Amino acid sequence: MKQYLCETFENREYEFNSGKYEFKIPSLRVSLISRCNEGCFYCHNEGISKKLPSTIQTGDIINTIYLLRDYGLKKVKFTGGEPLLFKDLKNLLYKIKHITDVDIFITTNGTLLRRRIKDLSPNIINKMSVSLDTLDPYVYKFITGKNFLDEVLSGLDILKKNGYRVEIDSIILKGLNTAKKSINYLIEYCVKNEFDLQFIELSGAIDNHLYLKYYADPNEILQNAGLDFKNDDTNDRQFFKIKNSRITLCRNVSDVCKSSGERCGGLRLLPNGIIKNFYYL
Ligand code: SF4
Repeated sequence: MKQYLCETFENREYEFNSGKYEFKIPSLRVSLISRCNEGCFYCHNEGISKKLPSTIQTGDIINTIYLLRDYGLKKVKFTGGEPLLFKDLKNLLYKIKHITDVDIFITTNGTLLRRRIKDLSPNIINKMSVSLDTLDPYVYKFITGKNFLDEVLSGLDILKKNGYRVEIDSIILKGLNTAKKSINYLIEYCVKNEFDLQFIELSGAIDNHLYLKYYADPNEILQNAGLDFKNDDTNDRQFFKIKNSRITLCRNVSDVCKSSGERCGGLRLLPNGIIKNFYYL
């Protein structure tokens, strides 16, 4: 494992201690499955150019997490495709909690929450991040290709009733959700439900034509909507609080990497079982 990690990180600097390389790998991002039941036009497939076969099994993930405990693993985030399509999710989550005390995060499109809620537990999952770019059903369908907004909202209600910590992830898309009214509507919804809200800058990893059409500078858009962001000492992301909701701005990966060594120190486990450096594929 150590040799494999050396190869994975060959271009990076490491702490040299007692004649051995000492890695610190605080986070692991696990793409459980390539498949998704939505079709967002900006989907970049977790930065992977083609759909990978989804061959990873619960045992592979458990073994990886078990090994990474020795490298300071603190956090595991499950993504997809859509991670709630991973059939063995309940078993996976319980097994992880049994062998380690890592924090568990899930990023989902929220459409299957109602169906899978019995397989989840707020005692095991530290935070559910749910993608929601808009509360307008027509815009939602335009972005995702599906009419699932009501499903997502009812899933979010269930998370709230069951005491989950929830964060809404909202990608800023010029002309679709950048009007002051749309932004404030989303903030009001989150504050009312005591959800955190993360505005995300559109990634440049998508088709260039779409990027040019829908990219908007988040600072500009959010300032126009009257939002006043400050720096966060813990991870350099800009944020402010309204009542119990934390509103955050997440800029593109290059900015994140420059500002946060820890987040760059993570690994990715892909649906075909391959391990990659966090941001460099
Ligand atoms: S919900 Fe996520 S994985 Fe699914 S299509 Fe949209 S961006 Fe891609």
